[in-house]
Amino acid sequence: MLDPLLSIFAPHICLGCDRTGTLLCETCKYDIISEPNSQCLRCLTPTSPTNLCRKCAASVQYDNAWCASERSGVLRSLIDSYKFHSAREAGAHITDILDHALPEITGDFTIVPVPTATAHVRSRGIDHTDYIARSLSSRRGLPYIRALGKTGSTTQHYLNRKERLLQASKGLFVRGKVPNKVLLIDDIYTTGATVDVCTKKLLENGAEQVYVAIVARQMLDE
Ligand SMILES: [Zn+2]
Ligand SMILES: [Zn+2]
Repeated sequence: MLDPLLSIFAPHICLGCDRTGTLLCETCKYDIISEPNSQCLRCLTPTSPTNLCRKCAASVQYDNAWCASERSGVLRSLIDSYKFHSAREAGAHITDILDHALPEITGDFTIVPVPTATAHVRSRGIDHTDYIARSLSSRRGLPYIRALGKTGSTTQHYLNRKERLLQASKGLFVRGKVPNKVLLIDDIYTTGATVDVCTKKLLENGAEQVYVAIVARQMLDE
């Protein structure tokens, strides 16, 4: 769905090449999805076909991870326009990109979005991560449940990893039935604190296996 008002006053322009009519034209989208990310999400060593190297796999609680891309260039603009201007069209493109980065997920996995703090949803009018999770769920034919919730309004900007871990777990709660096998969705990965605490919470509340799918990885010092 397009933002009707925005479309009237400012027709969408491709974030990659300035072509009018869409936020991301097919050519620029192809440029992103044709270059699969082959780095470990946590330590950046080359690894494929997943984005979790053996060494890191031994130190996290989730069983597998995929990350579509780095948060740079066109994808960065796309995520920024989505997060900060509630552009639903950007959400659809982001779902396309994530869908392409993921292999076939077999074996009764349920999609669970990383929760967005309630105050953020209120101010933005849309829960972006939830939107991507829902769209992916209908595309993949996988069930979806908002198993986790988050109260509070604090942002994670400018915190180090230890502070982020503390903050990420604050206000995190179980709000729905936790599935046995979870495909946890988040848009941005920075220190990994968020997926770490969400995975822990899911495992403590009935999950047996957690896979992680991230749209883009961003370095902390950027
Ligand atoms: Zn373009
Ligand atoms: Zn690694």
